[in-house]
Amino acid sequence: MVLKRKGPLISAAILIVAALWWMVTVPASVARTCRDCAIILVSIDTLRSDRLGSYGSALELTPNIDRFSRDSAVFRTAIAQAPSTAASHGSIFTSLIPSAHGGSVSKKAPLSQAHPVMAEILSEHGFRTASYNGGGQISSTFGFNRGFEIYESYSEGDYEKEYLADRSKPALKWLEAMTGRPSFLFLHSYEVHHPYAPAEEFCDDAIRSYAGPLPRSVDAKILRAINKTRMPATDGDRAYVEALYNAEVRSVDKAFGEFIDALKGMGRYENSLIILTSDHGEEFGEHKAIGWHSHTLYDELLKVPLIIKFPEGQFAGKVVTQQVRSIDILPTVLEHFHIPSNKHFQGVSVLGLLRGESLSEGFAVSQKDVDRPTLPAAIRNSDWKLNMGRLYDMVNDPGERRNLAKQRPEIFNAFKAMLDSIVSSSASDGNEEVQIDEGAVEQLRTLGYLD
Ligand SMILES: [Zn+2]
Repeated sequence: MVLKRKGPLISAAILIVAALWWMVTVPASVARTCRDCAIILVSIDTLRSDRLGSYGSALELTPNIDRFSRDSAVFRTAIAQAPSTAASHGSIFTSLIPSAHGGSVSKKAPLSQAHPVMAEILSEHGFRTASYNGGGQISSTFGFNRGFEIYESYSEGDYEKEYLADRSKPALKWLEAMTGRPSFLFLHSYEVHHPYAPAEEFCDDAIRSYAGPLPRSVDAKILRAINKTRMPATDGDRAYVEALYNAEVRSVDKAFGEFIDALKGMGRYENSLIILTSDHGEEFGEHKAIGWHSHTLYDELLKVPLIIKFPEGQFAGKVVTQQVRSIDILPTVLEHFHIPSNKHFQGVSVLGLLRGESLSEGFAVSQKDVDRPTLPAAIRNSDWKLNMGRLYDMVNDPGERRNLAKQRPEIFNAFKAMLDSIVSSSASDGNEEVQIDEGAVEQLRTLGYLD
């Protein structure tokens, strides 16, 4: 009799211990609101916002992203904090501008250990964490794996074959295994980054009828030669290169649609907070270069998609035109789950905007990743932009053509003072230089970041 009664007693004890463990390790706020939901951050590297139907494009490249946008809040003016991968993702992960988070490929520096990153914060609040990503500038070499239990980067070197669809498969498996637990997934792909090598099914007549000298796969080497005028390129060649990029946008849109359908199929869509964004855009001749980024701070490199689907249809269909920034993503996610923001964050939650409250527009600072003590920078609001010493009227001159620094000294000086104040108050505290292994060097070369 005594032995028979021990079973239920032990079971009850295990249940009590398990419940206590849950209460201790998972804060009540998260356990209450996110027991069966996921935070899914999808970064499609190098995706210009103006290619998306939900951002006004008439090209019809993105039916799946547009469908997702209708379930979501769409931020029409989202500004990245850098025109390159590591510096910009560092800002998404830390809510800090590049000079503050310190992550830099040019300086061979990882993200500063002084500040927590998104996955660490969420992990501390009970979220399981995993990332399936394209590697390269965001490989673990630069500290982007911090806080992730799983950080799986593409490492085969052939970036023509780096597809979102391939990154999605293990990500979906992981999410399925995490059912019933708060979970954070970071999914990333270089699919629309050069080399541009779209599959035939995504090519249109502009590509099929092209009879010029460029091959069907245009890589960093060709693009660098064109941009440095070592290789002549006609307007037709340039249009062809852009058509290849657009075809890759079609391809990634299809993969994103399949990812969303799979989430719906496993019952993980409705309850999940899903963010679709990019780290920077791509230039197609607005300021001379084609198929390139990281070299300027003009808007074609800084305007990125930011589309957030909240659980249970909250804020579906909202369109926000006020300027927001990549550094606002982390505070927004944290506020949604009642997790306090870190006092060092430079971004703010934009949930208030979605609730219809007025929120003063934050200045967007963006910086180039170069090996210099002071990073070249731009600062922007909806009306004006100071871009590396040139002043642009963003209402009447959104293409940033006419430098008004001399005509409007009062605005120039005010923006310059604001920029200096933000940058000087947020200097990084000196990051250790990292050693980049041979494999990583080859990846960075393929992506065009090393000569
Ligand atoms: Zn990138």
